[in-house]
Formats: sequence, structure tokens, C-alpha cells
Amino acid sequence: MKVDLGFFVAKSYEIVNCISYFCICFFSEFSHEESSMQICPFCKTELPDDSIKCSGCGARHGYLIRKTVQQKPWLMVRLFVWIGIAVVCLLGGYAVTAALAKIPLIAMAIFAVWKAIPYGVLLRKKARWWRRT
Ligand SMILES: [Zn+2]
Repeated sequence: MKVDLGFFVAKSYEIVNCISYFCICFFSEFSHEESSMQICPFCKTELPDDSIKCSGCGARHGYLIRKTVQQKPWLMVRLFVWIGIAVVCLLGGYAVTAALAKIPLIAMAIFAVWKAIPYGVLLRKKARWWRRT
């Protein structure tokens, strides 16, 4: 019985090893497939996943410097100004008990949030391929 148990343990160990090896192979293959190469949208050159510049045409992967990064301070300021207005109006509307003052303040807060949304969306913009024309 002891021999059988040892054999069983050895076999199960082997099986677990096989399964883990298979899993590692499968997942490394899977992750490899997912992030091995990226293709330049301008000249269709295959590039390593971590490259930030196309070796074929010189296109860059990142934020559009002119449109996004340079405007970012202004976008940030506008976003925070509108959020600030929204917060102040909400707090004011919450603190004020008279309905005549409450309604415009809350309406203003909603308007400010609505104005802030596009800036928030713009600031969340992901890096992409771009090329100076
Ligand atoms: Zn390219």
C-alpha cells in the first residue's frame, strides 16, 4: 500500500506539473499574441510593442503634442473651474433652504457638470499614433 501511495503521489505530482506547464505555455502564448507587435497605421510597418517611434516612416506613438498636451493645462483649468462651480452650487443649493434660491443653484450645478464632461473626456484621451504632415 505504501508503494502504491508513493506511486500515486509521484503520478499526481507529475500530472500537476504537466498541467501547470501546459497552463504556462498556453497563457504565455496567449499574452504573447496579445502584445507582441503593433502595426504603424501610416506605413503598416510591424513594430515591437514598446516602441514609441515607427522605424519605417517616423510616426510617433503617444499624445498629439500640439493638440492635446499643450492644451492640457487649459483643459485642466477649465475642467477644475467647472467642477468647482458645480461643487459650490451644489453645496449652496444644499445649504440654502429657500426653494427660490435652491432651484437655480442646482440647475447651475447641473449645467457646470455638463460643461465639465467634455473636458474630462478630452483629458482621458489615450495615446495613439500620429505623424507630422
Ligand atoms: Zn510607419
